[in-house]
Amino acid sequence: MGKNAEILNFALPGDRTLGVTLKPHAFNLFEKPQENLWTFDLEGRLLGMYVDGVNYRRTLDNRYFRKSRIRMHGEDFRQVIEISQDKSALLLDRSRELLASVADQLPLNFENIAERVLTTDMSVLEKDAAVFRDIYLPISILPPDQYMALVLQVSEGCNYNQCTFCNFYRDRTFRIKSQVEVEEHLLAVRDFFGAGIKLRRSVFLADANALVIPQNRLVAILDTIHREFPEVPQIYSFIDVFTGVRKGSADFARLAELGLRRVYLGLESGNPALLELLGKPQLSDDIIQLGKDLKAGGVQLGVILLAGAGGEQFRRAHLKDSIALIEKLDLGFGDMIYISEFYETNREYRKVMEREQIELPEPGTIRKISNELRFELRRKIHKDVSISVYDIQQFFY
Ligand code: SF4
Repeated sequence: MGKNAEILNFALPGDRTLGVTLKPHAFNLFEKPQENLWTFDLEGRLLGMYVDGVNYRRTLDNRYFRKSRIRMHGEDFRQVIEISQDKSALLLDRSRELLASVADQLPLNFENIAERVLTTDMSVLEKDAAVFRDIYLPISILPPDQYMALVLQVSEGCNYNQCTFCNFYRDRTFRIKSQVEVEEHLLAVRDFFGAGIKLRRSVFLADANALVIPQNRLVAILDTIHREFPEVPQIYSFIDVFTGVRKGSADFARLAELGLRRVYLGLESGNPALLELLGKPQLSDDIIQLGKDLKAGGVQLGVILLAGAGGEQFRRAHLKDSIALIEKLDLGFGDMIYISEFYETNREYRKVMEREQIELPEPGTIRKISNELRFELRRKIHKDVSISVYDIQQFFY
């Protein structure tokens, strides 16, 4: 249990108990012996629940997902299935009924949050989601360590938008918001999150390549972010090496002063032929230069590799060239490597693979390729660098 959490326990009929926990950033209800758990932000919005042995997540646009594990090809895979609002409402209402049954026994400091949870039913959550959808275009993806970030959409879309395997931003045209729009966006975000902001550990600049924003405009944006969100000082973003005017070490040093901690690069592979099939026009030399500039500027790097891309045909070359490139990046403490197990989101990739007569690997083969990459990277890359698997299906915001 985190520091400063206050826990109250109440007896319920039938030898059950209800634990009610108020933390500095969240509120929980825990029903025993069933071990049912509901978690809310401090505005009373449901975030997730574990009910009758099943794990559920709610997104800020009020969608509900059931998470489970399945065993396939001798490996564990996570499964995510969207469930209806009606079913979710029943699960949510169970928590509200439990809380209502002990509400008159709660101390004063629990009253405000309890009132919020009790009044936040599915219709309130649906209205809240409509506000969220007004403020944000869909938040397509974040790196796993940033799932609890406060996303600020200072730009929209991807200014390349042509990688054959990627479908994240095909629904929008790339644009950078003006300073006035950024300021309005930040105010709307602050209003929306309210006390729920306490759960947000960092700021993530969206969408796909916000660091393409010209340096002087980016500096002004980071200044504004600090003014509006002084409680969330660390800033993160995706980056690429083939669009816009590249930033140098002095630019990164200035951005680091303003809170930029780490950038994430979709490296995908170090193999040029595979990158061509993926439609990603990036050069190893540019990536190595970026690594040097970031290090000199004091900004950490997260690289993302695509396990299973190019199937068996590219397995060895992808492994060898990706590791060789990553070794040249001289990664260290605070840097990260994510292995994203290939998951088809864009039909264009399938067409390219068919044209090249490359068989699409089964999930079991992708897992083996991913395990192999992880094993080899762990052997060769400094132990301070975290290496983990990135499952895009597990992303919820
Ligand atoms: S992989 Fe990155 S650069 Fe390529 S289209 Fe998707 S968001 Fe854009």
